[in-house]
Amino acid sequence: MNERTYLDHNATAPVRPEARAALLDALDATGNGSSVHGEGRAARMVMDAARGRVAALLGADPRGVVFTSGGTEADTLALTPDYQRGEVPERYDVLIASAVEHAAVLRGHRFPAERVEVLPVDSRGRLSLEALDTALQRHSAAGHRALVSVMLANNETGVIQPIPEVARLAREHGALVHTDAVQAAGRIPVSIRELGVDLVSVSAHKIGGSPGAGALVIADPDLRPAPVFAGGGQERGRRGGTENVPAIAAFGVAAQAAAASLESEQIRIAALRERLESALRCEFPELVLLVGDVDRLPNTSCLSLPGAPAETMVIALDLAGLAVSAGSACSSGKVAASHVLAAMGVPERIARSAFRLSFGWSSGEEDVNRALGAFRRVMPGVLRRRAAA
Ligand code: PLP
Repeated sequence: MNERTYLDHNATAPVRPEARAALLDALDATGNGSSVHGEGRAARMVMDAARGRVAALLGADPRGVVFTSGGTEADTLALTPDYQRGEVPERYDVLIASAVEHAAVLRGHRFPAERVEVLPVDSRGRLSLEALDTALQRHSAAGHRALVSVMLANNETGVIQPIPEVARLAREHGALVHTDAVQAAGRIPVSIRELGVDLVSVSAHKIGGSPGAGALVIADPDLRPAPVFAGGGQERGRRGGTENVPAIAAFGVAAQAAAASLESEQIRIAALRERLESALRCEFPELVLLVGDVDRLPNTSCLSLPGAPAETMVIALDLAGLAVSAGSACSSGKVAASHVLAAMGVPERIARSAFRLSFGWSSGEEDVNRALGAFRRVMPGVLRRRAAA
């Protein structure tokens, strides 16, 4: 009766038991990966194993994996005008990003504001390839080299962007391509080669690893973004600072677990979401499914009860034992109007009432049943308050 149901995996996922065990093992083993003694070498081996596992999840070369503190840092590391390929400097003049990127991209990049171009999306949240082509042509004609950053899957809606097409267009114009795959990795197949991108950001805590680790994965290990932290030359000079070995160990194990069950989990989780979405829409026709008829992650549902503020819904569901998120809350407590829904042209009244349900590895049938129970308990009151407002 008092059991809680957690449907907020896009904010953070519960730590997988095997990742927790790896984290504790690494915590108990003293050793700095830069030290030459046995303890140091053992820490390095743990990191090398994790590097291989994260690389395998993304079909990448382990030498291209740069461990960071998370997705935000990976995005910031990637989005710099200053690169080096081997010993040769490469400079990018403009950043082209979609309007629905996470704040880690839109605010975390290292380009001067006047050298950033934000491109529109359509009503389903998909980047306009025509707008991208036009922008790339314009910048090419002006002699500008572009860095393009488009997320693989959106954190609020789950909408999947046409990254192979983005990468193909970008290549035609000699642009570098980054994709933020923080929400996609471990949920749908992500291959850096098949996507055709140069750089991919991932984060451990979204796939059942521990907070405190992420990675920027670089297709060409000789390509080096200017470091955010120069420090002591760790991560082959690409990210200074003693590595967070326990979180990295857990990240590797979580990546391996996610990769091992990717296909079956995609189907299982999509079925859970489908059952909840259809039951909700059938029982509560007032609820609007904001994105349905578009390629999207199997785990994410973005719903709205127009006229009922999202925070009211989230608090009512929380009291009924169900954890969901409002607006663009990737960090808890943030209930600002969503820039993602605004970019899609969703009317303010609907956008302000949007909330997100997101499933993951720990979700099961009982979560769907309990979530439905929570909605049945709160909806009459929320509908009454909405009518009275
Ligand atoms: N990018 C996307 C798409 C996200 O959803 C998040 C989530 O918070 C981030 C980046 C930031 O990742 P992290 O929390 O690991 O810094």
